[in-house]
Amino acid sequence: MKIHQLPVAEALTSLNSGPEGLSSLEAERRQREYGPNRVEEIPRRSLPLALLKEFTHFFSIVLWIAAGLAFLMDRITPGQNMDRLGYAIIAVIVISGLFSFWQEFRVEKALAALRDLLPRQAPVLRDGGVMELAVDQLVPGDVILLEPGANIPADCRLIEAFGVRVNNATITGESAPQTRTAGPSAQEHLLQGENILLAGTSLVAGRAKAVVFATGMRTEFGAIAHLTQTGGEEISPLRREIAYLSRLIIFLAMTIGLIFFTIGSLMGVPLWEDFIFTIGIIVAMVPEGLLPTLTLALVLATQRMAKRRVLIRHLPAVEALGSTTVICTDKTGTLTQNRMTVTTLFLGRVIEVGQEAALEPALAQDYRPFLLAAALCHDLAENNRGRQVELLGDPMEVALVELARRSLAEAPPWRRIEEIPFDTDRMRLSTVYETPAGTMLFCKGAPEKVLALCDRALVGSETVPFTEALRQSVQQAHERMAGRGLRVLAFAYRPAPAAGEPLEQELIFAGLAGLADPPRPEVPEALRKCRNAGIKVIMVTGDHPRTALAIARDIGLVHTPAVRVISGEQLKRLSATQLQLALDAPEIIFARVSADQKMRIVTALKHKQQIVAVTGDGVNDAPALKTAHIGIAMGIAGTDVAREAADMVLLDDHFASIVNAVEEGRAVFDNIRKFLTYILAHNVAELMPYLAFVLFSIPLALTPIQVLAIDMGTDSLTALGLGVEKPNPQVMARPPRPPRERLLNRRLALRAYAFLGLFEGLAALAAFLFVLHSGGWRYGQSLPPTDPLYLQATTACLSAIVVLQIVNVFLCRSATRSLFVTGLRGNALILWGVLLEVALILLFNYTAWGNSLLGTAPIGACVWLFILPFAAALLILEETRKWLAARWPRRTG
Ligand code: ADP
Ligand code: MG
Repeated sequence: MKIHQLPVAEALTSLNSGPEGLSSLEAERRQREYGPNRVEEIPRRSLPLALLKEFTHFFSIVLWIAAGLAFLMDRITPGQNMDRLGYAIIAVIVISGLFSFWQEFRVEKALAALRDLLPRQAPVLRDGGVMELAVDQLVPGDVILLEPGANIPADCRLIEAFGVRVNNATITGESAPQTRTAGPSAQEHLLQGENILLAGTSLVAGRAKAVVFATGMRTEFGAIAHLTQTGGEEISPLRREIAYLSRLIIFLAMTIGLIFFTIGSLMGVPLWEDFIFTIGIIVAMVPEGLLPTLTLALVLATQRMAKRRVLIRHLPAVEALGSTTVICTDKTGTLTQNRMTVTTLFLGRVIEVGQEAALEPALAQDYRPFLLAAALCHDLAENNRGRQVELLGDPMEVALVELARRSLAEAPPWRRIEEIPFDTDRMRLSTVYETPAGTMLFCKGAPEKVLALCDRALVGSETVPFTEALRQSVQQAHERMAGRGLRVLAFAYRPAPAAGEPLEQELIFAGLAGLADPPRPEVPEALRKCRNAGIKVIMVTGDHPRTALAIARDIGLVHTPAVRVISGEQLKRLSATQLQLALDAPEIIFARVSADQKMRIVTALKHKQQIVAVTGDGVNDAPALKTAHIGIAMGIAGTDVAREAADMVLLDDHFASIVNAVEEGRAVFDNIRKFLTYILAHNVAELMPYLAFVLFSIPLALTPIQVLAIDMGTDSLTALGLGVEKPNPQVMARPPRPPRERLLNRRLALRAYAFLGLFEGLAALAAFLFVLHSGGWRYGQSLPPTDPLYLQATTACLSAIVVLQIVNVFLCRSATRSLFVTGLRGNALILWGVLLEVALILLFNYTAWGNSLLGTAPIGACVWLFILPFAAALLILEETRKWLAARWPRRTG
């Protein structure tokens, strides 16, 4: 018989296992035999194809055409060294292609490494105890525990199941959750067995114990893995923006090139010369390093984030983070520590309990059912290691069970026979036990939910009718406790009703417990940062409105008396429009909401054109996590399902980490702009000699090869350095960037093109003319391209651009802050880049190799002395501009 057709005990024996699982020794042996429980990944794409892609994208194609034209011209008019230019351009394509290929490769490596930071684990029974093991250590015969939201790590057969439902969509495509039970199945096919859980699917609800019967590639999932691993690549908004920008720039370059080609040929410029500068204009304007730098900037940001305990699962999330306007956050564990202690009880009267304290014996005797409910109504796993009993699971339940066990003489050894699991909608949990006095039901949960099910109450040791007056006093106690920021739970019990009748009804109310959960210490500071950064923080919690409000005040999330607190009940009655209007309130809290209501809040915020980040940990949070711009899952408390739906994972569950991530996200955008300003500036400086040539008949001051030497050589590292700057301390002191704002806005374009670039270009032309004039050349005279004076003059132009770009890289470190604030240090890549600039320009000037490669000739000291004042002037002008901009009211744009 197949495993799903066997009764539980036989299914276990058929795998040489038992209800207590395997021993470590046996598991080790089986691991050697069956291998790790891993589905081998099929390489996503072939390397040669990826490499080819780098040489065929838009920039490359333009450059290929330029190279082709150069070779063509060399055929038509030989002897002008046009083939050299062709080779140089090809070299550029190859170098930048290899560079960006290497970057892409690094990205994949880095992302894979990041994924490994979050090992998938599962609780497994080994040697009679529960331990968290990496899922690849599972072997057939292992008994595992499963909770809602857990991914099923291997194919397994249920041996114990309470309210289990699974989502088999990944295997069967069917998305409606299906019920699963432990008993033997009559189905013919294993896949249809009602007691089978398949690897790659997930538990939607309930709790289960199951025995593994197939691992790794032997699972159903392993068999179809190659079908599901081909997920499409996402295109990030920033990437799209850069693609747009590239097209714009290339279109500009082509147009300018063509116009000037026409003017040139009308002026009677020889065809080959006309071609040289058309190609020159195009290569001058193509920003070759843009794409790889963007990727690098994103990846380095994810690595910095990982150091700050934030794991990015989708690269585009980094950018979205930078423009986040609203963060919807959980309370428990994110704003608070999720370190629960029972501080207050209500057992007929309010009782304050100290830490580690037990109830006094008389009271414990009277309220024994309360203590039994606290001890038995939970979802914890127990790990009996020696004398130490370790409780694994929700800290709130641990605190309650521990209090109960301290107060009861001994833990009742009864067997659980039924359970109605907790979910955020029901807000309660019930368990049924077999006791010597018959079966008993215990229930605990949110007081509103539990009290409504009670018709009697325990007072003293008596069971009395739950009168209106009694209800009132319980309700008052509840509200007082909640007002102190405590999470309050109600406990109830009853002898289990006859089979067939609903379990949770006509309960006996036993008491209330109030638990304190201290806020995380770093949260107030993080909230202050959000306020300065113009980011609205909305608490969305399942807790009582009073508890939520008390904690919100405590951590400084709300300040005014006019806080809008919306409960789940109220939310149900709000229409979409009303909800959108409610969200206008400056301070707003959602309390007693179920996870699926989160989705409504997120959607409403999106309709308000907000960029929404939302946290979540449970199965029901998955839709909200997917819908939000940035879904954030918890690394510790989160379920597998939530993590997989999320764009990023908080490894420490900490709210402050979200704020850190926003900061890094903003820095990325800033850095791309710094980088862009820098390269646009040199592109303008490179373009101007061509304009001067055509418009004013000034000999060509910078040859195309020299242009490439700047783009790909001298400025390469410095530009990269700007792309990976650390966030500046002020990024969180300004409002979020409007999501529609272009990367290249007017401000940036004016600064780069009309100021920095223009000034550099003029300085470079001045240096060029200075050398020519000193050598006796006068305007209008012809100058053969091999004349030593001409070679020297172009060298002066090249050198001037390089010197000014050395100054410029420091100016570009901030568009607003003075160089005296940003300083020279703090970015090793920029300093190495400057060193490279100096080394290369000396090489180009003073070595025979450099001279022959770039058509340069050594320049004298007086030329350097001529250039330096320009560098100083650029610095002074830009500092003055920043100084003025800081004082003048800022114009938009
Ligand atoms: P939060 O948003 O603070 O994490 P939850 O949605 O987890 O809140 O819980 C909502 C409410 O459900 C809690 O205020 C509590 O009253 C109740 N509750 C939470 N966990 C349990 C549990 N394990 N058993 C019974 N009731 C619970
Ligand atoms: Mg919770």
